[in-house]
Amino acid sequence: MLTPINSLTRAELTKQLSLLGCPKYKAEQVFRWLNRGVSDFEQMTDISKDLRKKLSERYYIEKIEILAKQSSHEDGTVKYLFGLHDGNSIETVLMKYHHGYSICISTQAGCKMGCIFCASYERGATRNLTAGEILLQVIRASLDSDIKISNIVLMGTGEPLDNYDNVMDFLDMVGDEKGLNIGMRHISLSTCGLVPKIYELAKLKKQLTLSISLHAPNNELRSKLMPVNKAYNLESLIKACHDYFEHTGRRISFEYAMISGVNDTKECAFELSALLKGFNCHVNLIPLNHVDGSPLKPSTKQDMAAFIRILENNHITTTVRRRLGSDIDASCGQLRRRLNNGGKEWKHGQ
Ligand code: SAH
Repeated sequence: MLTPINSLTRAELTKQLSLLGCPKYKAEQVFRWLNRGVSDFEQMTDISKDLRKKLSERYYIEKIEILAKQSSHEDGTVKYLFGLHDGNSIETVLMKYHHGYSICISTQAGCKMGCIFCASYERGATRNLTAGEILLQVIRASLDSDIKISNIVLMGTGEPLDNYDNVMDFLDMVGDEKGLNIGMRHISLSTCGLVPKIYELAKLKKQLTLSISLHAPNNELRSKLMPVNKAYNLESLIKACHDYFEHTGRRISFEYAMISGVNDTKECAFELSALLKGFNCHVNLIPLNHVDGSPLKPSTKQDMAAFIRILENNHITTTVRRRLGSDIDASCGQLRRRLNNGGKEWKHGQ
């Protein structure tokens, strides 16, 4: 069986190619070609015919193709729907900020975490993306839009820590000086809170920003919104976050989607302040993105303002996420969901 060559880190590629009698610098050349998005070994023009043949006998190059693309006329956001070899599809969103381009990438096709406000959840339709497929989203979007990407957020479809090994290989590749060379400080990883994996990640002392999808200040509410909370409750999650901060020195970012009448009350703001008191962290409030057919509504401006005031009075650094691409449905999972079920119904929990 052939091995997907663009899912190999440079160290692994070098090791495997040395067994074919290939020197280190040649393996580096191959790695560079893969990072330039070649789709065929024949495009590697400075690699000998003999080596190209050997490679094609043992490896294949993974591909993702653009199935659909939406560009925002408001702010330059571009959303891609990529097709994978097995008929699955994933979403990637390219966003323009004053400091450069940031890309939001998917780590799984579908997601099994079941958060009730999220468009990505579809039962039984999940598979892990390979490290190559995760990296290809960055390469293809960058080539297609002809821009250089400076920041990456792992906040698209999927739970990155549920695909831990492939995500770690992706981080190794994307940060490689011979590859795209995007430093860990320019990458954020968002998780719903798989506690054992947060401890594992902390030990690696990577300079990543860890974003925690919190969305509720107490266990009762969080378990209703996010089933993962039944396995790893708030206390264990916050403890893991402290450990992450101690190991890496990186301030944790807590994501909190504001849902009208559900988690945006003053009581919730006080509870959240108490939960995070004294922790050097940051709260990022996200106005809920409406998902077709969902009964959940975004908070009003007034409720958000009151919520922020309480957090700030309690010395909790708070920002509100800018909405990008609102004219193109840029929130995670929406485009894919439309493709898969026509977007007619709210399938969640049925
Ligand atoms: N599984 C990871 C990453 C993917 S979701 C995680 O849970 O963090 C990326 C972010 O978008 C998470 O913070 C998620 O909770 C949030 N999100 C999902 N659906 C949303 C919606 N309808 N409105 C606003 N934010 C949403």
